[in-house]
Amino acid sequence: MNDFRDRHIVVAGAARSGVAVARLLAAGGAHVFLTDSGKVSEAAAARLQAAGVAFEQGGHTERAFGAEMLVVSPGVPDKSPITQHYLTAGKPVLSELEVASRFEKGRIVAVTGSNGKTTVTTWLDHLWTTAAVPHLTGGNIGTAYSDLVEGSTAGTTSILEVSSFQLDHIDRFRPAVSVLLNITPDHLDRYGYRFEAYAASKLRIAENQQSPDVFIHWMDDPVAAPLVAALRQRPQPPRILAFSDTGEPEEGVFVRDGHIVFKLNQTEEILMRVEEIGLRGRHNLHNGLATALAARVSEIRLEHIRESLSQFEGVEHRLETVRVLDGVTWINDSKATNVNAVWYALESMKTPLVLILGGRDKGNDYAELVPQIRAKVHTIIGIGEGKDAVKAQLGEVAPMYVEATTMEDAVRKARKAAKRGEAVLLSPACASFDMFENYEHRGREFKKYVNQL
Ligand code: ADP
Repeated sequence: MNDFRDRHIVVAGAARSGVAVARLLAAGGAHVFLTDSGKVSEAAAARLQAAGVAFEQGGHTERAFGAEMLVVSPGVPDKSPITQHYLTAGKPVLSELEVASRFEKGRIVAVTGSNGKTTVTTWLDHLWTTAAVPHLTGGNIGTAYSDLVEGSTAGTTSILEVSSFQLDHIDRFRPAVSVLLNITPDHLDRYGYRFEAYAASKLRIAENQQSPDVFIHWMDDPVAAPLVAALRQRPQPPRILAFSDTGEPEEGVFVRDGHIVFKLNQTEEILMRVEEIGLRGRHNLHNGLATALAARVSEIRLEHIRESLSQFEGVEHRLETVRVLDGVTWINDSKATNVNAVWYALESMKTPLVLILGGRDKGNDYAELVPQIRAKVHTIIGIGEGKDAVKAQLGEVAPMYVEATTMEDAVRKARKAAKRGEAVLLSPACASFDMFENYEHRGREFKKYVNQL
């Protein structure tokens, strides 16, 4: 018996997770109606029909407003009329994550943060695979949680990438292990430009956790720090562990004399040397520490943690080396859609470089990149709608600033500018929708032209 049998439920949004949750609910015996203010794709319509879910598109009719509860896809903002209607009526509004988690039979390891979610989720998947521990991986990446959860058993771990939009409408969602990687400004448009609201929504990952559940956070994150301190004061907090590459947390994982060290229950264990980690960059050290700690508290053996940490090769479009041509290393970091991600990309670079920057600007402040650009970047190539903002803020910072009209043009100009021993980095700090379908498309185009050189 699940919580939704025989209930009348409206699902808003026919994107991947909306369709998946509608199907899950219908399979669970609920009366489901899906509504979308835009268009429902043919593939989505076919899935809904196969699942026996009635739906409408291009707006909401009366039927959409009459259910007992609303389930929202992450793409549907709170200010949308349908969500507002249910909230005002005092009826439950749940996220896909919440609904799917009510069908969970195993344990959940959930990852959130502004940057690094996909890397850590994929790394955890790699680690669980290395250790041959049964698991399901998805959520915000790959397969929607609603499409995975029926495969869970008492012995499986669901490894989930969780966005703050999904956390906005949880109720009882309770991971055995949660990871909060970092909090930096992104998606502020969805939170009425209130950074505190965005930050607080990330902490909701721990809202229902209690010891022995584990909450893992980055000790050096100034934004998370006060929120974690408040979490500690809660009547029944989860077990709170931290990772750091600069200091030593009371409990968690850290770096000492070039070694990764766990400290749990007053006992220290040396895992491996930092330089054995396969991925480049300080942010990936953070990601590796978080991954290792989540595995360690899940009773995965040290040898498997070590093996995965040294062998994991990263995820496409995240500081991905495309090729080395005439001594120039070409790097695709198309997933860097905010300034903080670019900061870490630049931090990881050891050679002079050409930086390709721009796209759909979300109101970026590029000032924090200035010291790194002064130190490492000799040419900035501006692309897309955002190039005026890039030029205004960074045009005088590097010795050379040029503009490109297309990705092909950018690659050609980068080739001219880069010298042997240097690198070309696509790390745009912006969304891709001005010129491309999405960041994957942008990254693939970049790689295509780089591989044609
Ligand atoms: P998300 O799924 O949270 O968007 P990704 O793993 O896809 O995160 O990485 C997004 C971008 O952020 C990439 O450019 C990547 O190099 C960078 N990045 C990855 N991990 C971190 C981190 N811990 N801190 C800052 N930037 C990161």
